[in-house]
Amino acid sequence: MSQRDNVIKHGSENPFESMKQRFDQAAKIIGLDESDYNVLIAPQKTVIVNIPVTMDDGKVKVFEGFRVVHNANLGPSKGGIRYSMDVHLDEVKALAAWMTWKCAVVGIPYGGGKGGIKCDPKSMSKGELERLTRSYTDMMVDVFGPDKDIPAPDMGTGPQEMAWIMDEYSKLVGRSSPAVVTGKPIVLGGSLGRVEATGRGVMVSTRAALGKLGISPIGATCAVQGFGNVGSISAKLIAQQGLKIVAISDVSGAYYSAEGINVEEAIAYRDSNNGTLEGYKLGKITNAELLELDVTVLVPAAMEDQITEENASRIKAKIIVEGANGPTSASADHILNEKGIMVVPDILANAGGVTVSYFEWVQNRLGYYWTEERVYRRADRVMKTAFEGVYAASLKYNIPMRIAAYAVSIARVAEVEKLRGKFGL
Ligand code: NAD
Repeated sequence: MSQRDNVIKHGSENPFESMKQRFDQAAKIIGLDESDYNVLIAPQKTVIVNIPVTMDDGKVKVFEGFRVVHNANLGPSKGGIRYSMDVHLDEVKALAAWMTWKCAVVGIPYGGGKGGIKCDPKSMSKGELERLTRSYTDMMVDVFGPDKDIPAPDMGTGPQEMAWIMDEYSKLVGRSSPAVVTGKPIVLGGSLGRVEATGRGVMVSTRAALGKLGISPIGATCAVQGFGNVGSISAKLIAQQGLKIVAISDVSGAYYSAEGINVEEAIAYRDSNNGTLEGYKLGKITNAELLELDVTVLVPAAMEDQITEENASRIKAKIIVEGANGPTSASADHILNEKGIMVVPDILANAGGVTVSYFEWVQNRLGYYWTEERVYRRADRVMKTAFEGVYAASLKYNIPMRIAAYAVSIARVAEVEKLRGKFGL
């Protein structure tokens, strides 16, 4: 298996340009005027910091960190912090803009932001990661805030990093401030249901899409790329709806069974195998082949730019539900549209995560915590309502779901911008 076949190249398209192409199409359809266009396309705030960290060997290393507030019209900006060697400003800007549209499309009172640090978290000790995270928080203290900008985990970060941010920020402002970040450990004010939230939203979107196409979940098939938080939970919950999961994958490759995969067993295998599916008992195919399987539903839930101009014409799924952010490059959109594939776009399909993050923030501010059932019920309702709104817009303007999702959200942010009078931050 070649490296190209298994690990599809990351970042083949400038992610900000990719976002902008979709934005431009939607802006035209809703007749966004030039002034609003200029205000909404540009990030409102971009902060770049160089973070000195004393490493375990006593030497000081300097890490580049970013925080971009794309838009804070609807409320405080919301978005994760990514730790990866691939982090760069254009990517953070694109992800921040996606968060603006994502929050707006599901109708939660947040703007969009994103952060990142160029680092390799896997090669760092816990102490080094803690010092890095605390120093980043120190440098961002004027950016973050429960009413200003609320980080969350993203690739390479998790509940531990959020706990450090919450602690450092609370120390700096002199009061306990759990609502400054979401994705915290449950004991520290995290929300029940957050871990499953994104996958659950993917499942709700999948059900809704099948319903619109009049396809029964029973007998339908599904392939899921990526077996981390989003991929594995989407696969588990989609299987519970009666679909047959025929392929799953992670960075080690893809695993196929025409008879259907027992997803819970695969999760248990991954958990007992250092977090990877490497060596899993099923037939092995490549990640590229997984994307091209003849399935009812394809869920790309790994990373950006997996469905591109190069492979889009070979995609056979009837429905693509984008668990990952930006798994389809803008240049592939028209090919999928011409093939009549229904694409439930990332900003809608994976918005279950930010919806429950919002619920976490609400609970932190209430000081009252909901049951898992209440979280699920409310999140499912948000996702279903958002799906219906986007679907209605796609019918109204006769446009694909992706552009409809952008149209709905841009219209909302533009309306608020007009009411507020361009105050923004
Ligand atoms: P994760 O780190 O838990 O899992 C990523 C998975 O993708 C792993 O199984 C990894 O092995 C696999 N992978 C990485 N590169 C791959 C490749 N080239 N081919 C195949 N598999 C590959 O991450 P996650 O939290 O599940 O996030 C996945 C995607 O979903 C990202 O795009 C992320 O931005 C997006 N997302 C996550 C959330 C969330 O709540 N976690 C919410 C919204 C969007």
